[in-house]
Formats: sequence, C-alpha cells, structure tokens
Amino acid sequence: MKKHNFNAGPSILPREVIEETAKAVLDFNGSGLSIMEISHRAKDFQPVVDEAVALFKELLNIPEGYSVLFLGGGASLEFCMIPYNFLEKKAAYLNTGVWAKKAMKEAKAFGEVVEVASSAEATYTYIPKDYEIPADVDYFHITTNNTIYGTEIKEDLNVNVPMIADMSSDIFSRPIDVSKYICIYGGAQKNLAPAGVTFVIVKNECVGKVSRYIPTMLNYQTHIDGGSMFNTPPVLPIYAALLTLRWIKAQGGVKEMERRAIEKADMLYGEIDRNKLFVGTAKPEDRSRMNICFVMAPEYKELEADFLKFATERGMVGIKGHRSVGGFRASCYNAMPKESVQALIDCMQEFEKLHVK
Ligand SMILES: *Cc1c(COP(=O)(O)O)cnc(C)c1O
Repeated sequence: MKKHNFNAGPSILPREVIEETAKAVLDFNGSGLSIMEISHRAKDFQPVVDEAVALFKELLNIPEGYSVLFLGGGASLEFCMIPYNFLEKKAAYLNTGVWAKKAMKEAKAFGEVVEVASSAEATYTYIPKDYEIPADVDYFHITTNNTIYGTEIKEDLNVNVPMIADMSSDIFSRPIDVSKYICIYGGAQKNLAPAGVTFVIVKNECVGKVSRYIPTMLNYQTHIDGGSMFNTPPVLPIYAALLTLRWIKAQGGVKEMERRAIEKADMLYGEIDRNKLFVGTAKPEDRSRMNICFVMAPEYKELEADFLKFATERGMVGIKGHRSVGGFRASCYNAMPKESVQALIDCMQEFEKLHVK
C-alpha cells in the first residue's frame, strides 16, 4: 500500500533525492567509493559544499555579507550558540511554543531575557501581535513556524532591532527577506535533508561583537573562517541537502514552493472547516502551512483513536498530534505531494460518512 508520509520531523523528502543519495552511498560520482567513506577534504566533496552554499544564496536571494554554514548539533545547539555569539546584555524573545521557550531558556544563562509576549495561556494556538520590543536589546528572537502547535509567522516582521529566526520547519517554503535578519537557523530534518545537519545563515559583520570568550566550536567565526570545514561536517546529510536544493530550484524555487504550500494548506484546512467531525486548533489567521493541527469536534471526541486507526489502515503515516497537544497533525512540507493531502481528505470524508448521519 502506498504510504503518505505526514511525519513532523525527520520527514518526507523528494523521492529523487532519496534515490540519488542512495546511489552516492554505493558509488559517489563514479569514484568507486561510497560518500560515507571519502574524506570531507577530498576534491570531490568541496564542490558539494560550495554548490549547496551557492544554491542557498540563490534560492533565498541572500544579500552580500552573509555566510551560510552547515553545522552539527541541531537547532537545539543554536539555542545556545545564538546568545553565546550575540547576547551582550539583553535580548527579546517571542514565546510562541515549546521550541521558542527552549531557545529562551538557554539565553537566560548569558544575560537579561525579555519575553515580549506569549501565547502559552492559550496553548500556543495563536501568534501574539501587539507587543513592544525594548529598543536597547541586542536582538529579537522569533520561531517562524511552531511545528508542534501549527502556527506560523508567514511574513517577515518589521522590527527596529536586529532579528534572529528559528526557521527549522518552514525554511524554503516561502521567499524571505534575509536582510531583515542577522541570523536564520534550523535543523535540516524538516524540509531539507535527513537529520544530522543544521543550517545557519549569519550576517558576518554581526559576529565577534560580544566581549565574552566563546569556545572554538561554538563561535560562528570559526565556521565562517573554516567554510563549515573546521572539523568534519555531516557529509552525507549535506549531500542530501544539496540534492534537495537542486530539486527546489528545478521545481521553480521558493515562490513555487510557497504556491504549493498554500494550495495544500487551503485544501486541508478547507476540509477541516467543512467536516463535522474535526476542528482546527490554531487561530485561522495564524495557521501554519507546514504543520496542520486539528482535533475531533467535542461531540465526536471518543472517535479519535478510531480515526487514527482508520487513516493508518489507508496508508497515512505520522498524523498523530504531538504528545503534548494530542489530536492530529499533518505535516505538509515541500516534498509532500498534493495527492497525499487529497488521500488524507478522502479518509476524513469517508470517516464522516460512517459517523455523521
Ligand atoms: C524540530 C525543531 C527544533 C529542534 O531541532 P533539533 O534539530 O532536533 O534540535 C527546533 N525548532 C523548531 C521550530 C523545530 O521544529
């Protein structure tokens, strides 16, 4: 049976990317060696990093003066590296969910942290809008897509302080104005590559301004100077990321990814709103295009486990909501075909016919 992969992360990748990666695992570039057994300093690998960096810059229209880094440690290590490198006295954070909160927790070890607003009181079902950012903060940190709660900041904010964003789960799903940020980072395993590589886009002139000593591996300058090769980078995930970037370009770039994301999200939210069995959890204007969260309508609550079983039997994978919120979450990243979204909608409609008289 065909599987429809709605996993939240690690998650769906384009089939071509998986097949090409598999080939390189057996024989990289006709070298007779696996990509897993060559040196990252081999002459064949440098072009992989160079092209991945170039495609990042091209696809996201990154201005001059920024570096693109491929690191280890996940977005979670960036929660610490961000304040290490940028927080001198005070930073502002927008608390829109578990990941935002974890980022904020790390920053507190380095200086004063101002939580400018929070939607915790409403289980993070919306993005706070009216808040003031103190003018004297070193940076303002946001999480553009809240993977667990299904809310998303879908346009670049206008703020009067340096902005930093965790874009782990919506990178390459829309055009972004990189010039508004001093740093954008994320784990690649949601929309770009298998787990193991973290991307960081950083404005060079903003690095090296804090007065503290920064351990070598946690210092962005180390990785800017080393071209992501200061130590052994995650070779295989970087290669897969390159293939995904080529795929995005061939499909028409981030504008086309955004068009598809809107189309898929409109289809699924349309069904959630129409179907008597289900309700969406996020405030409509803040709904994520990447992680579509919904629960059973209150009068059908006892059908939750039944629907999960029903959908699983029809090939749906990974639609169970995060353990902290329950219900359902259908993650519709770039590689998710419209046909899979339709298959889920078909399930929802069949299930409705069985249970709503
Ligand atoms: C998954 C996720 C993280 C954590 O990423 P790791 O790479 O596992 O550390 C952080 N932020 C967001 C928005 C995420 O979706």
